[in-house]
Amino acid sequence: MENLQKFYINGQWAAPISTATLPVLNPAMNEQIGTVSMGNSHDVDKAVASAKAAFASYSQTSKADRLVLLKQLKEESEKRFEDMAQAMRMEMGAPITMARDAQADAALGHLQGFIESLEELHERIDLPNGDVMLREAIGVCGLITPWNWPINQIALKVIPALATGCTCVLKPSEHTPVSAMIYAEIIHSAGYPAGVFNLVNGDGSTVGSCLARHQDIQMMSFTGSTRAGKAVTHDAAETVKRVTLELGGKSPNIIFADCDLEAKVTASVQECMFNTGQSCDAPTRLLIERSCYDEALKIVKAAGEAVEVGDPEKEGGHLGPLFDEIQFDRVQNMISVGIDEGANLLVGGLGKPEGHEKGWFVKPTIFADVSNNQRIAQEEIFGPVLVVIPFEDEADAIRIANDTPYGLAAYLQTGNSDRADRVAKQLRAGAVHINGGAINYGTPFGGYLQSGNGREGGMMGLEDYLETKTLHGLF
Ligand code: NAD
Repeated sequence: MENLQKFYINGQWAAPISTATLPVLNPAMNEQIGTVSMGNSHDVDKAVASAKAAFASYSQTSKADRLVLLKQLKEESEKRFEDMAQAMRMEMGAPITMARDAQADAALGHLQGFIESLEELHERIDLPNGDVMLREAIGVCGLITPWNWPINQIALKVIPALATGCTCVLKPSEHTPVSAMIYAEIIHSAGYPAGVFNLVNGDGSTVGSCLARHQDIQMMSFTGSTRAGKAVTHDAAETVKRVTLELGGKSPNIIFADCDLEAKVTASVQECMFNTGQSCDAPTRLLIERSCYDEALKIVKAAGEAVEVGDPEKEGGHLGPLFDEIQFDRVQNMISVGIDEGANLLVGGLGKPEGHEKGWFVKPTIFADVSNNQRIAQEEIFGPVLVVIPFEDEADAIRIANDTPYGLAAYLQTGNSDRADRVAKQLRAGAVHINGGAINYGTPFGGYLQSGNGREGGMMGLEDYLETKTLHGLF
């Protein structure tokens, strides 16, 4: 982990200019596993200068050249697959089975999706009026990512930047630098020219803000909280950068009485808890039709009580800890808010689960009889906390589902395909999951409203990194 104290700039691991550091902690053991260097504005300037210099030649490479590099990136990513899964287990507490099957798998899945999209991308289009349209790399990109799906988010930004001929500076979450360091090593082994990819660690208010304000950066791609997304947008405004944002969510999951209640309700509870509830698109508001409310609530309770918490080193489908003390305190606070608001505590509650006192473990928690205007129904909690809200009919379900500042995802469970179609069209969200349907790699992902703008993954994920140029008067 020697490279954790260095930054990857201009094709090599270099000592930082800043002397600041931050401990890297394992949330399951509450123990330090490393120390990361925290950059400053001079480190950012150095990385941006390297990306700017590399852009001149890298942006002129052909699509075929970039496809060769992406295929090399795939080979190198496959070689480091297990290292990547173990890194995320250690730095953010992902249980090893899901660290492999979901977290590390995302780097490969998105890469394949981008390779297929790049193969199909038309970089030169002859318009019917005789003019020509070119799709070109936008320039130097600043990429900022969070800790909850560390490699998934890095892959969704770094790969399209490299695929389209952009150069970039990545600032991963300061809390999950190990997986990002491994990704930089993978890019190095894949043979990318010096300066095309650069990595500077550091915090949001220093390195993140310097990137967003930098005059030599043309685009910021940000994933994280809505609060920080707004700050990036403000910082980027002065230099009129393109800004794409993937932000928070409070996604509704509508259970209609005509679905397979036992199966769909059980799966819905499990999906909310997945990744210890630390997913931006988690279905955290369970809306249940009044006519089956009492019966469904019994299933919710049984499913919630069956969710196990355990050591991330152990194989299996259990939940790991929350990723740090701040997140633990935040979730405990929101459970207190729910109790104070008078919601019916059906499963879990305050405190750590028995036998897991050392790490930042919490009890999977479910509140029933919640009203959508309560804080626990409006605010992103980012832990394994589900709120259950009754509704009267289809129109009521749609009204409650859309009554949120967010619009990342929505879920619905019904045995009636006409209804599924009708309701899906009225939900204000970037993705609607019907009867447990999961998003596939290569499909655009992103939100409406305060969940952000832009789309990541596949063809639309490439387009975010492209500028349009038109040619006139060709002979
Ligand atoms: P965060 O906003 O605290 O941090 C995210 C990143 O932004 C980090 O790298 C951080 O250092 C940086 N940052 C913080 N303040 C900044 C600033 N002022 N300027 C520039 N950069 C800044 O979020 P987090 O706690 O790391 O992640 C959890 C949040 O991310 C949740 O709200 C979650 O919903 C969201 N998220 C969204 C998606 C999505 O695709 N929509 C995916 C994953 C996570």
